[in-house]
Amino acid sequence: RAKGEGRDCYRIFTRDMDESVRMRGSIEEDLRSALATGKGLYVAYQPQVAGRRIVGVEALIRWQHPERGLITPEQFIGVAEETGLIGRLGEWVLEQACLASLLWPKIYVAVNLSAVQFRAADFADRVLAIVRETGAVPQHIQLEITEGVLLGEDAMVIDALRKLRAAGLKIALDDFGTGYSSLRYLRRFEVDKIKIDRSFVKHLGHAADSAAIVSAVVNLGHAMGLTVTAEGVETDDQRRFLAKAGCNEMQGFFFSQALSEGDVAKLLKSRGGPRGKIKAAA
Ligand code: C2E
Ligand code: MG
Ligand code: MG
Ligand code: MG
Repeated sequence: RAKGEGRDCYRIFTRDMDESVRMRGSIEEDLRSALATGKGLYVAYQPQVAGRRIVGVEALIRWQHPERGLITPEQFIGVAEETGLIGRLGEWVLEQACLASLLWPKIYVAVNLSAVQFRAADFADRVLAIVRETGAVPQHIQLEITEGVLLGEDAMVIDALRKLRAAGLKIALDDFGTGYSSLRYLRRFEVDKIKIDRSFVKHLGHAADSAAIVSAVVNLGHAMGLTVTAEGVETDDQRRFLAKAGCNEMQGFFFSQALSEGDVAKLLKSRGGPRGKIKAAA
């Protein structure tokens, strides 16, 4: 009996594994064809707010899968990274974001980059080529990187970041505080902005330590001449705390979800700014 149960468990386990391997395989295949046909993939833009103004938007990839419906980036960015598809995917998003930035000359567009993309020797040149070919203003493009990119403190990565910044692009350190040695990276790498991870913002108001961390990060960022953005702002209490702490920019569902290109344009056009349509960050 016990033996039988064990065998059943084993069977269920392998069945689950098979299913997950099959799923990844099919995601890879479908992603490949989505990239080739341009069908199903699109970019949504989430506003970043300073005071009453939208100062930028973050480009977030979306995939409307023919059978599975809307798939979140968490479900396919990993597959794209493992299969090497992230190179093409990342460049496609960057190109879309650069083209969109031409429509919105007063704000910046931020694009997420995967650590895997940085491993290509010509990475910075490819980014700069896309910026040039689309006609985007380099100063209006921000690249969001995570500590994973900086891990190992690779000379190639440092050179790539220098080159991109020298060309006028801004670098933001995303999900700040969730990595292993955030402070070390701040000293070692030239970045323009830190984005406080939403896990800290989430616990503001009911965890004193999160409030202390957030305040300290804002002060640290300012002392180093960096812009500090908070992500995942969902409530007015969080907004108020962050404003009081001196956080420069905020992003989150309290202000707006990620929007279509058309809806961003409408939001920016309303009264020449977001006033009235979007809540003030500070
Ligand atoms: P991220 O760069 O930290 O992006 C912020 C994520 O938080 C987005 O999820 C956004 O929809 C979500 N978010 C925004 N405001 C709130 C809020 O108030 N509350 C909560 N709970 N969540 C909020 P999304 O779009 O699902 O993206 C997840 C992650 O996938 C991103 O995290 C980023 O790491 C990655 N990603 C998205 N697009 C791309 C891309 O084009 N390239 C790469 N390499 N990664 C991407
Ligand atoms: Mg990001
Ligand atoms: Mg983030
Ligand atoms: Mg995050």
